[in-house]
Amino acid sequence: MQKSYLRPTYIEVDQQAIYHNVHETKNRLHDDTELFAVVKADAYGHGLIPVARVCREAGATGFCVATMDEAIALRNAQITEPILVLGITSPQTAAIAAVQHISLTVGDLDWLAEATTYLQADTNLPVLNLHLALDTGMGRIGFTEKNNLAAAIQQINESLTFNFEGIFTHFATADEIDQHYFDQQLAKFNDMMSVVSQRPRYVHVANSATSLWHQVCHANMIRFGIGIYGLNPSGSAIELPYELQPALSLYSELVFVKQIPAGAAVSYGATYHASTAEWIGTIPIGYADGWLRRLSGMTVLINGVRCPIVGRVCMDQIMVRLPEKFAVGAKVTLIGRDGDDEISAQEVAEYSNTIHYEIICGLHDRIPRHYL
Ligand code: PLP
Repeated sequence: MQKSYLRPTYIEVDQQAIYHNVHETKNRLHDDTELFAVVKADAYGHGLIPVARVCREAGATGFCVATMDEAIALRNAQITEPILVLGITSPQTAAIAAVQHISLTVGDLDWLAEATTYLQADTNLPVLNLHLALDTGMGRIGFTEKNNLAAAIQQINESLTFNFEGIFTHFATADEIDQHYFDQQLAKFNDMMSVVSQRPRYVHVANSATSLWHQVCHANMIRFGIGIYGLNPSGSAIELPYELQPALSLYSELVFVKQIPAGAAVSYGATYHASTAEWIGTIPIGYADGWLRRLSGMTVLINGVRCPIVGRVCMDQIMVRLPEKFAVGAKVTLIGRDGDDEISAQEVAEYSNTIHYEIICGLHDRIPRHYL
């Protein structure tokens, strides 16, 4: 979709906040532990390349992405640090990964066999770095049996085309107060690691939540995602051990202001009727921008005042009830601070019955990103 620069709706990304979050986290790790910045999904909506550059300056020594295309975009932007694709990629892309020095995730023996056939076709390729995923309870990807894991390690070690660079797992409940399932996964991880006689370069188990609240794992790299962007992985369930600064704000402007009489309706379905004469403002953002339809009723900040969204959220516009006549052009804060008040991504998520990850990742490309 076309980016809409000529509309007054924009995202502001605070690079100093990103720097702070990465730097502070890195400083708290053991000296031998590296921080890989998780910048998948366009750096959780903040912009892949600018975020990767700030993370690198702040101490990140590698990057994690979800897809090969994201990894290639980083390489094209002269990001030369290690990059790991966390998802399963097609074995057909193994040669591209080798050439671009992109590390791939392996979750079963079939993938290795198939990738081997593609790589053997060209003997001049650089070695392909592989990370073995262990499914210790996430139920998504990875080895679940020690014998298959041992066989994979043996195949990689005997092959000239592969390098056993890493091994990892992913916790399903690291952001929850109850540690029971986390401990179960950790025990399974330690058990599976018993067949790994020679530890690879990277052993990694921690997403942001694990790195913030569980200092229990013998690993030497963390995959730091949501913390980069200054958000508490648990939402509001568990307090952060140190300050993280939210990096994303979402702003717009009033583009139309009018007074409607008592009884007049607003938006599709005519579900909202003014109870008295009311001032209504229109803001150019809608569900096509990721401002969800279920955010009807949520407030936005204008001139330091909370104004409720009235009527249904349209594709490209929302209407809000104003306490008085506000000027066209008045700044609207949908996420972020205005004076003493602040609307957090967490508040938006709670209102729309989801998690803040979904809110920030869902903010569409159509909205330009401005970097402070
Ligand atoms: N590691 C893996 C395997 C992931 O899938 C993700 C994100 O979904 C992360 C790390 C980063 O998680 P977070 O953003 O919670 O730090």
